[in-house]
Amino acid sequence: MITRSQDLFGRARRVIPGGVNSPVRAFRSVGAEPLFIARAAGAHVWDVDGNEYIDYVGSWGPMILGHAHPEVLTAVYEAAARGTSYGAPTEVEVRFAEVIHKAYPSMEMVRCVSSGTEATMSAVRVARGFTGRDKIVKVDGGYHGHADFLLAAAGSGAATLGLSGSAGVPEGAVRDTIVVPMNDLGAIETAIGAFPGQIAAIIIEPVCGNMGCVPPAPGYLEGLRRLTEDSGALLIFDEVMTGFRVAYGGAQERFRIVPDLTCLAKIVGGGMPAACFGGRADIMAKLAPLGPVYQAGTLSGNPVALAAGLKTIELLGRAGTYEKLEASSARLASGLTAAARAAGVPVTLNREASMLTGFFTAGPVTDYATAKTSDTQRYAVFFRGMLARGIYLAPSQFEAMFVSLAHTNDDIDRTVDAAAAVLRDLQA
Ligand code: PMP
Repeated sequence: MITRSQDLFGRARRVIPGGVNSPVRAFRSVGAEPLFIARAAGAHVWDVDGNEYIDYVGSWGPMILGHAHPEVLTAVYEAAARGTSYGAPTEVEVRFAEVIHKAYPSMEMVRCVSSGTEATMSAVRVARGFTGRDKIVKVDGGYHGHADFLLAAAGSGAATLGLSGSAGVPEGAVRDTIVVPMNDLGAIETAIGAFPGQIAAIIIEPVCGNMGCVPPAPGYLEGLRRLTEDSGALLIFDEVMTGFRVAYGGAQERFRIVPDLTCLAKIVGGGMPAACFGGRADIMAKLAPLGPVYQAGTLSGNPVALAAGLKTIELLGRAGTYEKLEASSARLASGLTAAARAAGVPVTLNREASMLTGFFTAGPVTDYATAKTSDTQRYAVFFRGMLARGIYLAPSQFEAMFVSLAHTNDDIDRTVDAAAAVLRDLQA
């Protein structure tokens, strides 16, 4: 019998490329077909066939409070009732920028956009406009959205000019993108030495989430800060994933590094399309209408999206939030590690706060090259086994699991029990 998800996927494939509106949703790398989700509440999602799952995707990061939080929903309903978009300034944008600035003091001025892709694209543009330099440095396996010049793949060698990372991205678009391995300060020095006075910015996920979770090595972010300062390049923290996730004040608070520019999305939209970038006032003053760097958006600072984001941020600001997330995440990580050990399956578990990835490799995993030593076929089997037991994980080895405030100890213990069973089968 064909399930409703299968039926919808069949219809979807006829009218939507690959049946999905973002590629990783297609479950291709885990050899399965996507579930179509009907609703979600707290840490749980239900598919259109009525199956319930404990969710560790959390819409790829935003749902840190859990799904359909009643106070966020009320904020959304109330905002929507006043009109959904005006294309004119609103009070909520001012409050949002003030709240972001308070939580991220390095963001002296803030500009709203609608997605992480727009935030990073715009931050790099203003960095180039401010410095008058063209080249940017990114980390191999780091993801900063799908702007052409950020879809660069590494060539061979430690610090190479990027190769086009996608069909449709001309080599010219990545000509000024230099790709270096994560956690390798020597490669940054090489890049700066090779292009003296030409590097506008280094853009980095301070805790990588898009090669699976790869935290910064001790001293790495400090080294980036020093090398950028010395060479006149700007340091852009892409905190789209880590913002309000690894700490209320993001990775910059957790690791005490002050970047020049920061990109935020996901949690700041509270599950709605809102994002922002910001930083030093002298840099942000280069943006139109004050300065010569053009950047704009019809729905930027959308009042309904910002209402969801502001309410989410307000709730995260309550005492004990990050302690609870830490306790739940530590419980999950130690449970999964013990389950892998008991089953005799080599797994390297990387965790930073409530982001974690179990790599199917003996490890350690410190960059994209070592992440890729994972046995992705094993991950695929693990993923399908977990799904069959009601646990919804990211359909790729190279993603993080996100723990939310809605995950109970019971959810986590059920997850660990399921993992123990799947890992035992895997080894058998
Ligand atoms: N930067 C990072 C670190 C991300 O994780 C993502 C999305 N996963 C993006 C940028 C792009 O954000 P969006 O999908 O909202 O465009």
